[in-house]
Amino acid sequence: METDKKTREAATSLKGTRVLHLNATANGGGVAEILRSEVPMLQALGIKADWQVIKPPAGFFEVTKKVHNALQGDHTGLTPTEWKYYEDVSKELAERVTPGDWDVIMVHDPQPAAIPYFRTDASDTKWIWRCHVDSSSPHDGVRKRMTKYLLPYSGGIFSLDSYRLPGFQPEHLAIIPPAIDAESPKNRPMDEDEAQELLRAYKLDLSRPFVVQVSRFDQWKDPLGVLEAWRLAKQTVPELQLVLVGDSADDDPQAPMILKELRSVQEAQDDGLLIVADEADDRTVKAFQTLAVAAVQKSLREGFGLTVTEALWAGTPVVGSNVGGIPLQVRDGEDGYLVETIPEAADRIAELAGDPALAKRMGAAGRRIVEEKFLMPRLVRDDLRIIKAVLEDA
Ligand code: UDP
Repeated sequence: METDKKTREAATSLKGTRVLHLNATANGGGVAEILRSEVPMLQALGIKADWQVIKPPAGFFEVTKKVHNALQGDHTGLTPTEWKYYEDVSKELAERVTPGDWDVIMVHDPQPAAIPYFRTDASDTKWIWRCHVDSSSPHDGVRKRMTKYLLPYSGGIFSLDSYRLPGFQPEHLAIIPPAIDAESPKNRPMDEDEAQELLRAYKLDLSRPFVVQVSRFDQWKDPLGVLEAWRLAKQTVPELQLVLVGDSADDDPQAPMILKELRSVQEAQDDGLLIVADEADDRTVKAFQTLAVAAVQKSLREGFGLTVTEALWAGTPVVGSNVGGIPLQVRDGEDGYLVETIPEAADRIAELAGDPALAKRMGAAGRRIVEEKFLMPRLVRDDLRIIKAVLEDA
């Protein structure tokens, strides 16, 4: 893997450092997407980096999805029985991690977050908690409980300043937005011919415009809101098609229910609606993002939104909700539009679908912003900085 000079320099003093990334899923969702590229890049820089995925018993992710949802502002807390289960499984998981093998362990998101709290070894391993969710208005009870488990961490990372969790005060706190890998299959360049070839197999009329939302089937991504916006936009641009590309992460038990709901809407109607569930490989996702007249990201909450970055990188403008990490990437009226409501989303989708030249200009502006701010070497340098900081305390 190619690394640039600035990034190699940032890694010089950390060569040989043993860094473990620990998360909940090897497939699906933005964290797996990032680690798939970041870990090899760290290794190429001489860091002894590795990635482990927790393997909890069935049922654990039902509970941790509630923690995730509550940190994102859902009003439902956890019952005492659910907390006890979270603790019991975290203790089991803690026995399987061998902290002594690592100088730093970076733990991603709430699922494995309590592992250092329950560990029994005496190693002086440093722990960093990397939160990817929008925790700007968390459920208070869940926040309090989680900050107790987060006590052993000497580092914390959030994607945006507004996501800092009150009560979580590690010695080192960094604000680091995620990034995409420009060389990965998902983001390597693709010309229109290749994209058309890849999409030929789908029930999609490539002579008509389409918009796409690529997202896990998750309540926070609001796929039903996207459907509604598309229906409204069709009143202005009747030939407009909608593609919902989605998958379900291993740690997300809610997806099948949401997909079922979407399928029933699809059966009841709808000319021009394509749902691609759990089948699009990276190049196919890229093809949809490349040929769409606009990408939609109508999330109700969005920790960052790598799908936004990917679409912009593909030169496609984004109509996105003005929430979480989306306004960090989309500048309203420059590389897409930020919207507050479904009718507003519909108007912007219709505007771009009716003006491909404008869409192209905005997409090109978006690609430049990604190049400047949201590519993997910058993320690696930021992560190396906090790793260095926690190790200097030793
Ligand atoms: N993704 C994918 N196929 C799908 C849906 C999503 O490959 O059917 C990928 C998407 O391209 C992106 C990641 O999953 O790289 C989602 O990351 P994002 O930050 O947008 O959202 P998260 O799922 O982490 O909330």
